[in-house]
Amino acid sequence: MCIFCKIVNKEIPSNVVLENSDFMAFHDINPKAPVHVLVIPKTHVDSFNEINGDLMGKMTPFIHEVTTLLGINESGYRLISNIGEDGGQEVKHLHFHLLGGAKLYWGHFADADSKDFF
Ligand code: AMP
Repeated sequence: MCIFCKIVNKEIPSNVVLENSDFMAFHDINPKAPVHVLVIPKTHVDSFNEINGDLMGKMTPFIHEVTTLLGINESGYRLISNIGEDGGQEVKHLHFHLLGGAKLYWGHFADADSKDFF
């Protein structure tokens, strides 16, 4: 069982922001911004590559509710899903990183290894 499934099953503790029967939002253990929350479906889905429109459609208002609860819906935030090896996905259970609470800059690609796609 993956680590996020264990969090869903309460086998591993987490700092929960919001939870319903389908989704869970909890604080990232290693925050990269003043607000750094992870939003996951309770059902195991490997990554954004595998999510279907029905699940995404239900997840969207849940994420909106979380941003309101966190007080970042108007100040702004960043929503990221890392996918696969090049995306830097470490936990193979779909999750959206919700980052906010500060002005976020877009400068962390400088150390990326380029690939000759073009
Ligand atoms: P990613 O690299 O996109 O797969 O992100 C995985 C995220 O999960 C990282 O930001 C980790 O800090 C976070 N993480 C790993 N284990 C835990 C945990 N037990 N509770 C909360 N966040 C976690």
